[in-house]
Amino acid sequence: MRIELENLEGGKSDFVHVYQPEDLNPVDERIDVIEPATVSGKIRLAGNEVFVNGHVETRAKVECDRCLQPVEIPVNADFALEYIPGSEYESTNVVELTEDQLSVAVFDGEAIDVNEIVKEQIVLAVPTRVLCRENCKGICPECGTDRNTGDCSCTTNDIDPRWAALKKLI
Ligand SMILES: [Zn+2]
Ligand SMILES: [Zn+2]
Repeated sequence: MRIELENLEGGKSDFVHVYQPEDLNPVDERIDVIEPATVSGKIRLAGNEVFVNGHVETRAKVECDRCLQPVEIPVNADFALEYIPGSEYESTNVVELTEDQLSVAVFDGEAIDVNEIVKEQIVLAVPTRVLCRENCKGICPECGTDRNTGDCSCTTNDIDPRWAALKKLI
């Protein structure tokens, strides 16, 4: 969905859109959206600048950081974005950020691409490390066995070298 600025009545508008997973996937190399994603928000023009804020909500599938099994997680992201036209950006050396959550982006001066916002917000909302469970045992680096589902014969050798050194002292 693109919001054309010339269609905004009174320079502002509310928007809501539901994306099917296939509209967004692949979000990036590690994130797949598995439920429809709802985005809702407000867009407001102020001179040459455009302010967009809103909320994205869906569920995503990623790999466990330790055992690589798929993990489904909820995605909830609030965003507050500021856009300035590309032509304006080039003439501005310093862009001041006034609020923590506020980031400034460049756009073509005609329309805001909500698809891009939604994908970007999902990527930002998914933690870089996701575990399938708090105490996931991961994969044996020797033989590749998933230690959550079974032990292998090499597990006894796999002591963190720092602990191994301590053990000698005892
Ligand atoms: Zn895991
Ligand atoms: Zn093993």
